[in-house]
Amino acid sequence: MGREIKRVPLDFDAPIGKVWTGYVMPDEHCGQRCGTCEGGGYSQAAKRLHDLWYGNAPFRPEDNGSVPLTPETPAVWAFAERNVTRSPDYYGQGEHAIRREAQRFTDMWNRQWSQHLNEADVAALVEAGRLYDLTHTWTRDSGWQPIDPPVMPTPEQVNEWNIRTLGHDAINASVVVRARCERDGLELLCPDCDGEGSLWRGEQHKAAHEAWTRTEPPSGEGWQLWETVSEGSPMSPVFATADELASWMSDPERGRDWVPGDVAAKFIADGWAATLVGSGGDVMSGVEFMGTRGGDV
Ligand SMILES: [Zn+2]
Repeated sequence: MGREIKRVPLDFDAPIGKVWTGYVMPDEHCGQRCGTCEGGGYSQAAKRLHDLWYGNAPFRPEDNGSVPLTPETPAVWAFAERNVTRSPDYYGQGEHAIRREAQRFTDMWNRQWSQHLNEADVAALVEAGRLYDLTHTWTRDSGWQPIDPPVMPTPEQVNEWNIRTLGHDAINASVVVRARCERDGLELLCPDCDGEGSLWRGEQHKAAHEAWTRTEPPSGEGWQLWETVSEGSPMSPVFATADELASWMSDPERGRDWVPGDVAAKFIADGWAATLVGSGGDVMSGVEFMGTRGGDV
């Protein structure tokens, strides 16, 4: 859990344990979630194409001019073999275990458009500069450079590359879906919210939403402990000195949040200006404070 020290006015009286109002967008500035697209911003058609991409709607490789994978497809077999070799305790050993794993991926990947791109899909990705692994070379001296003369990877190459590297991300999905919508004359964006996912009462409402920014609490002479796991809220009263805050932090009444006095003092001295995060034993610089608590602070 993250903690930080803030310097606030001595009479600062924002409620303890409540998110500072300056960090929360007021309701009147919030847009209303578009019910038509459920906030996603896509048209029905584009939403369905995304579902095909991820295998959340019925898809067959043949529908996109591709060939179903089998466990023997070299990239599938190699992927399964790597999984099995890494975790023999989990998967078992030998060809039977590899075959079972290869079958599992075959079944899953044959239901996903992302594993079965066609030429038009590939062209869209190349156009968007999304397949550098296949269209460019990289060297330390000159970085990424296009292969000369330019190459257009085949769908088979791209589909195999994706299995080897799990290369497609959400951006690739949106690029391919957008291109497909353009080719097929389908609407890409939700007509009701123009793709924003939110509805506005008018231009003024939208402008106010976009203009809103977080406001930090006022600064001053006082010392206060904040938690930063939520948007940020005060945890302690405001004290006139760092010593008083350290005493408060090391008072047995803090219960779970108690820390030894010297640790509290060091935390305040080191970190009053920084956001300090400790989790699972990972500790950022200068924060023995976190380490002593084994990550549950
Ligand atoms: Zn919408």
